Amino acid sequence: VEKDFTGKISFKNVSFTYPDTGIEALKNVSFEIEKGQFLAIIGRTGSGKSTLANLIMRMYDVDSGSIQIDGNELKGLNLHSYRNQVGFVPQEVFLFSDTIKNNIAFGLDQVEPGQVEQAAKNAAVYQNIIDFDLKFETMLGERGITLSGGQKQRVSIARALIKEPKILIFDDCLSAVDTKTEEEILGNLGAIMKGKTSILIAHRISTIKNADKIIVLDEGRIIEQGTHQQL
Ligand code: ATP
Repeated sequence: VEKDFTGKISFKNVSFTYPDTGIEALKNVSFEIEKGQFLAIIGRTGSGKSTLANLIMRMYDVDSGSIQIDGNELKGLNLHSYRNQVGFVPQEVFLFSDTIKNNIAFGLDQVEPGQVEQAAKNAAVYQNIIDFDLKFETMLGERGITLSGGQKQRVSIARALIKEPKILIFDDCLSAVDTKTEEEILGNLGAIMKGKTSILIAHRISTIKNADKIIVLDEGRIIEQGTHQQL
């Protein structure tokens, strides 16, 4: 997987029902995104956006249809090495009562010198961290400091970037921050996403002007697909 992994994603007639509730969250969804491209997904609450992201992360297997990564069935890939190449920024940030460093390096087997700092720089949160007395050793959580919403979001982005993933997924992570913070983060996103296949789930249309492709979901179906100009 590792060597040739480029990050092209294709969905072919994918349907998925949550086994516990019987809710049919995605219905016959097909699309393709080339390596290095930026796909945006919009749609009302409950339309299936997070489900689509969850399926790419392979939290669940599809009921019918197929998901392919670089032309290979996602089902057939080694889950551990695949997930190591996918950076996921969830809707809600989860931080631990631990140092900033350990929060960013979370999930890595081994940390190279400078790796945490570089990820923080790429996520545009390095300067904020350096401004704390204890810098990367600053404790977060109950016994530590509280970061602002935008800072938390960027720590979460740094955590996704530290793996140098080929695929980046942002699950609606910007709707929780104010517009000013959103702009600040988006300003850096272009550079972050360069050369990576990126998927951004968003609420605000303004967030996704630069997408190569936009998918509009409604009740689990793709109702529109195209560029910002086309839609
Ligand atoms: P939002 O914008 O509110 O995050 P969304 O477009 O991301 O919504 P999904 O979270 O994918 O929508 O939800 C699609 C449908 O699947 C909804 O009806 C939802 O209630 C249901 N659903 C989502 N997650 C689960 C789950 N873990 N178990 C069962 N049903 C779920």
